[in-house]
Amino acid sequence: MSSKAVVLFSGGQDSTVCLAWALDRYETVETIAFDYGQRHRVELDQRRIVLRNLTAINPSWQNRLGEDHLVGLPELGKISETALTREAEIVLTENGLPSTFVPGRNLLFLTYAAAIAYRRGIGRLVGGMCETDYSGYPDCRNATLESLAATLSLGMDAKFSIETPLMYLDKAQTWAMAEELGGERLVELIVEDTHTCYLGERTGRHDWGYGCGGCPACELRAKGYLSWRSAMI
Ligand code: ZN
Repeated sequence: MSSKAVVLFSGGQDSTVCLAWALDRYETVETIAFDYGQRHRVELDQRRIVLRNLTAINPSWQNRLGEDHLVGLPELGKISETALTREAEIVLTENGLPSTFVPGRNLLFLTYAAAIAYRRGIGRLVGGMCETDYSGYPDCRNATLESLAATLSLGMDAKFSIETPLMYLDKAQTWAMAEELGGERLVELIVEDTHTCYLGERTGRHDWGYGCGGCPACELRAKGYLSWRSAMI
């Protein structure tokens, strides 16, 4: 029986490494993304470029990459009223969460992904959720995702697993994983093509990629890259 997975693939660094991880393991890998009125559409534009360039790295990845699904969720943007969907400053809110947090976003994404996966005979979902760098996001925690996998399995009467290869890695270790999976070519692709910056900035090119360099996402990405590169010397 062939092994199959659906990867939540946004076009950012983390989900690109997850996609390479899944392509390395599973025979058929489909991708899914959500258009929920993100403040900047650059991530959705970049993901198409990443998908195209990723398959050029390894011929077996080309054979394994299956359908891509783009799901429109405009209501999520309307009800969340956060910095990702409005022109608002990114700050820590009273409950200690960054204002970029869309409440329950990953729960919704994974539930939609499971509904599509079910129809396609796939029981394995893969996502880049991580406790290490984003401990403020309760829907990225392992306990949340284990509970959701149990709920999805019960609610759809089918076995679902949620695999999170980055759960306990920091950003330096995520760069190292990219290098292990696809060598320097995958590292280069992540630098050139993936998008992480909260401000949608792609004019400034740094060693670690494009971005404003000052938002929390850029800072994490830069710090991880420098720490990984300095550990290699
Ligand atoms: Zn930035």
